[in-house]
Amino acid sequence: MALIELKNLTKIYRLGDVDVPVLKGISLTINEGTLLALMGPSGGGKSTLMNILGFLDTLSGGQYLLDGRDVTSLSANERADLRNERIGFVFQNFNLLARTSALKNVLMPLEYAKHRQRAKEERAWAEHLLERVGLKERMDHHPSQMSGGQQQRVAIARALINRPKILFADEPTGNLDSKTSDEVMHMFQELNQKDGITIVLVTHSPEIGAFAKEAYHIKDGLVVDGTY
Ligand code: ADP
Ligand code: MG
Repeated sequence: MALIELKNLTKIYRLGDVDVPVLKGISLTINEGTLLALMGPSGGGKSTLMNILGFLDTLSGGQYLLDGRDVTSLSANERADLRNERIGFVFQNFNLLARTSALKNVLMPLEYAKHRQRAKEERAWAEHLLERVGLKERMDHHPSQMSGGQQQRVAIARALINRPKILFADEPTGNLDSKTSDEVMHMFQELNQKDGITIVLVTHSPEIGAFAKEAYHIKDGLVVDGTY
C-alpha cells in the first residue's frame, strides 16, 4: 500500500531576485512498511525532498498524497499536527540539547503533542524507549557526556516518543565511524521489521544504502535510474 505518493513535485528557492529550482519534478511512491534509501550526490536535493515529505518545508508545485490524503496545501498548523502525530526525525548531527538529560531529551517532543498521557506514563514510555536503544543505564547522562553513537541512539528514542508511523533520517550515520554506523543501521532495521515503522533514510554511502529494501537515486533535482 502506498503510504506516500508524489506527483511531479517541484521546489524552487528564491535567492534575492533569482529563482533556484532545486527539485524539478519528482514522482515516486513509498510503500507502507518499507525501509527506503534516498541516495545520490551531495547537492542533488535529498534533504530538501525529505524536509518536504516531513512537513518541515513546503513544496512549490506538484502533489503530495500521504495515506491517500492530499496534503499538498495544508496550513502551517495542519502540517505541524501531522508532523507530531505521524512522523519522527533523526538528523546527522543529532540535534539534542547538550546539557539536558537523555530522558528529558526523549520526552521533549511531547511538549508539542496534542494528546498527553499522565506524566508517569510518559516517563515510563520514554524509559522503555531508552532501554530499547540500549541506554537504560545512561538515562540521566547528558548528551555532552556521550559518544556520537550513544547520542544518535538518544535521538532515535526521541524520534519514537510519539509512536510515529514514519521515521525520516537524514544522513543518520554521517558523523559516526563504520562500526557505530552498523549498530545504528541494525537498530533501524529492527524498528522496520519488528515494529513495522516505515523508514526513509538519506545517505550517499553505498554501505548504508545496502541496509535498505529499496532505493531512489536523486540527482540534480530528479529521480534517476540505478546508481550514480
Ligand atoms: P542534498 O541533501 O542532496 O545534498 P540539498 O537538498 O541539501 O541536497 O540541496 C539541494 C540544492 O538546494 C543545493 O544546491 C542547495 O544549495 C540548495 N538549497 C538547499 N536549501 C536551500 C535554501 N534554503 N535556499 C536556497 N538554496 C537551497
Ligand atoms: Mg543533505
